[in-house]
Amino acid sequence: MQSLTAWKRVIVTRREGVFDRGRGSAYHCAPMLTSRLPNRVEPYKLAARAERLEGLVALDQFERLAEQVGAQDGDVQVWLDFAIDLQGRRVIHGRLEAELQLPCRRCLEPLSQHVESEFLLGMVTSDALAAELPSTHEPVLVENEQLNLLEMVEDELILSLPQVVYHDEALCRVSRDQLSSGEEAESPEPTPASPFEVLRRLKDKP
Ligand SMILES: [Zn+2]
Repeated sequence: MQSLTAWKRVIVTRREGVFDRGRGSAYHCAPMLTSRLPNRVEPYKLAARAERLEGLVALDQFERLAEQVGAQDGDVQVWLDFAIDLQGRRVIHGRLEAELQLPCRRCLEPLSQHVESEFLLGMVTSDALAAELPSTHEPVLVENEQLNLLEMVEDELILSLPQVVYHDEALCRVSRDQLSSGEEAESPEPTPASPFEVLRRLKDKP
């Protein structure tokens, strides 16, 4: 379906500026989850009943995530509050947390990274409706009154990936190799004299 790629793009552009990281999280003291999230739900019914879904999703089933940052073990914890807001929109206020193994930009070995994000989704059935959402909401596609939770959680997880991660220098293989080969970690180049400095020196010469 051609419009699905367009959706992903809308999601990505809407993500910028959505976060208000200073805001207190309602899930701050949430206990560890033990149950599993269902793969698919009927989101309109959940919104009408203002239900909360919470549970774990196994990370090893996310193929797009694996393509970006390598295969993952363990689970992502997800909390989802379904609601109908004051404007009559069906929305999902969600949060996720996971420990991912992300490749270090310097040595490419994986390092453990805590990833978490909070998001506000507006349920839509078409591109046209997605465009009508306020910028505070990311669109999430509902087809035949069904929502694919797996795909939604994977989208959110990919959007919450940090741009770049590095090991601490003491732990990074590349830094260690440099140290053991006797290379200076930092050998600052002498600053080239500015042309004005050179001119001044020439003028000062007798
Ligand atoms: Zn490294």
